[in-house]
Amino acid sequence: MRQLFTDPIAATQEIPEAVNVELKNLTTHLFKNSSTLTGITQACGETVKDHYNRYSAIHPPGNGNVCGICATEQLAQRRSGVAANDQWRAPYDHLLAKEKYPQFGIDPDNLLPICNTCNSKAKLAKDLLHNLAGQRRICFDPWTENFQGQVNLQIDFQDISPIVTWVMSPQPLTNQSKLTTWDEVYRVKERVEGEFLSLEVKLAEDLDCRDLAAFKHSIAAKAHARKQFERRTPFNYWRHLLYESLLRLADTDLEQLRILCHAALDPNGHAATTYGI
Ligand SMILES: [Zn+2]
Repeated sequence: MRQLFTDPIAATQEIPEAVNVELKNLTTHLFKNSSTLTGITQACGETVKDHYNRYSAIHPPGNGNVCGICATEQLAQRRSGVAANDQWRAPYDHLLAKEKYPQFGIDPDNLLPICNTCNSKAKLAKDLLHNLAGQRRICFDPWTENFQGQVNLQIDFQDISPIVTWVMSPQPLTNQSKLTTWDEVYRVKERVEGEFLSLEVKLAEDLDCRDLAAFKHSIAAKAHARKQFERRTPFNYWRHLLYESLLRLADTDLEQLRILCHAALDPNGHAATTYGI
């Protein structure tokens, strides 16, 4: 089925509607009821929880506890004093919806742990293989491809306050199509830009705003640290891109930004918030 993601010519096998209904009932039943059976565990070599723990492990080849689709949210909160097999886990997304593609309802290649926002808020019933007009499209194969290096964040000073703008810079045209699908399905652009709407506050909570030299030094240090721990903490990947873009700004623009950040701090030097805490 993975060929369907990346090959625009590849098509799913036509299944008569009457068979489709029964197939959907069967795979839904198997998905819900068979994963804990001893025989299934023996055949797979591991339980679903084992698989999830392996996928979300901090160290490679684990992908970490940050959602691999959006990098904006934890897969699931971890609790102290709780055994690995009793920890909460993220939902497994059917990349191709089980209602429309029941033949892939229990295909391991079709099941990816993702965060609740990607699963329950952004994607919903959207189809990775067809746009809203029903036209065939391609998408990233999440098991071998990713968006790294194809999206940048820029600071736009044209508005009243500086705003963060998402810029896609894919090289081949096929990557542009995949990026467009990824963003249309999971709404990543508006989620990342939304996180930094109050840019000066988001920077003030993380950077040293005392003077320009300290500001620049902290940007460089944080860019490195956020990148290093991009799979540990939500938004670290995007913070890293944001700080990389700051490092490309002229000193006059940086100083303008620093003054705004400084103003976001209260007289005691703590970041002002609107929550009364
Ligand atoms: Zn996500």
